[in-house]
Amino acid sequence: MDSSGKLEQRPAWTRERISAALGESLVRLIATIAKHAHAENAAIYLAGGVVRDLVLQRENTDLDFVLEGDAIAFANKLARIYGGETERHIPFGTAKWKLDSAAINNLSLGSGAIPAQIDFATARTEEYLAPAALPVVEPGLIAQDLLRRDFTVNALALRIEAESCPWDMLNPGKGYSDILGKKIRVLHDRSFIDDPTRMFRAFRFASRFGFAIESGTAEILREAIPVIQRLSGERIRHELDLILREEHPERIIADLSALDIFAQIHAAFRISARSAEQFQRLREHMPKLRGNADETARLGWHLLFSGIAEDDALLICARLGLTGELSSSIAGFARLLEKLGWLGAPASKASAITRFLDGISATALRAALICNIDKHSAKERLELYLADWRHRRSAIDGNELIRAGLAPGPIYREILDKLRDAWIDGEIESQDQEHELFLKLVKEAQAWYRG
Ligand code: ATP
Repeated sequence: MDSSGKLEQRPAWTRERISAALGESLVRLIATIAKHAHAENAAIYLAGGVVRDLVLQRENTDLDFVLEGDAIAFANKLARIYGGETERHIPFGTAKWKLDSAAINNLSLGSGAIPAQIDFATARTEEYLAPAALPVVEPGLIAQDLLRRDFTVNALALRIEAESCPWDMLNPGKGYSDILGKKIRVLHDRSFIDDPTRMFRAFRFASRFGFAIESGTAEILREAIPVIQRLSGERIRHELDLILREEHPERIIADLSALDIFAQIHAAFRISARSAEQFQRLREHMPKLRGNADETARLGWHLLFSGIAEDDALLICARLGLTGELSSSIAGFARLLEKLGWLGAPASKASAITRFLDGISATALRAALICNIDKHSAKERLELYLADWRHRRSAIDGNELIRAGLAPGPIYREILDKLRDAWIDGEIESQDQEHELFLKLVKEAQAWYRG
């Protein structure tokens, strides 16, 4: 029976059915792994997102195994037998088995979508000693492991038998019926207080699957919102990064923004009213990024700041622990958006604009163009900078200044900059004119030194 009392029509998880969803290579890989677990008398389960997506018939090759046994030792053993490396996380009893080409070969996996890594975790129980802090974990049974999870729809597991099928589905949180009913529901009332990252996850899954957040869950979520202030910047950053990698981040951002969740991260973190339109434009721009998910996410990070002044942007980046490079790029983006009026004004010289834009990263410039700048003249100038001005260089270099007998010093940079500016502003248009200006600037510098 499901939670509403209706009889669930759960399909039998036959080999054919699973193979149709995951591909035969992956099913063989799962059975091989199960054979080794059973040789050690450890029950093994496929759990979490991959099982949810099997039910939803969505593609997912991220295999997460849970063992009632020592997962780290087990992953190490597989790596010793088949090759590849393991990355261990001892406090949580988890290990990633990273498959290399030798391991793929030794496992005789053939063609088909093979994951680059496979996750193993020891079945565990958790205790949260303080809100928003990481839990203390202890080995446990699979049902306990499933019930400690974020949402019922992620609290599903398949018990893997190496030789026989169908595989049993474990559904202790009634997540199966929530998938059918398109609901995101927590497994207990303290869930968001224990771990407020689940708020971000709730909206992310709801948006991705077109599910609703169940009304009781929505209520306890709203009550727990202030606990976000206790989350570390790194954990929030991770969640925002995952959101920016979704197909429609703007929907999730709008949901979070409607509940003032960004303001809990930092008081100045306000999402622009034009955010949805900007992410739509980012999607249109994506073919140019040729599937580069990291660059798409980086552009998304900039768009999140499109309504924020530079000083505030820097404070928010610090709160999120963003790296130096990304945070200075975002600050440059914010600075650029603040200067659009100046950028588009007829009196602003091309050379001054070039110097200003030279200090702003390529990603920030791209993000500004994606923002569909209203000020047409500013956009035109940004495009001119990208196509032409930024490439302009004087043919004259420091050696010619030495030959001209000028003592080396900061004056060299000044003269070379002035020559570049003159090219950009159209004050010189030929090598002869450049040479004439060069002689004039050298003469002025010598007079200045003498005087
Ligand atoms: P995706 O489809 O985005 O990869 P996923 O469901 O596979 O999502 P992961 O972040 O890879 O999620 O985590 C794997 C599983 O671990 C989840 O399905 C969920 O059961 C559990 N989990 C992850 N994060 C949390 C959390 N903050 N609290 C409780 N359980 C979690």
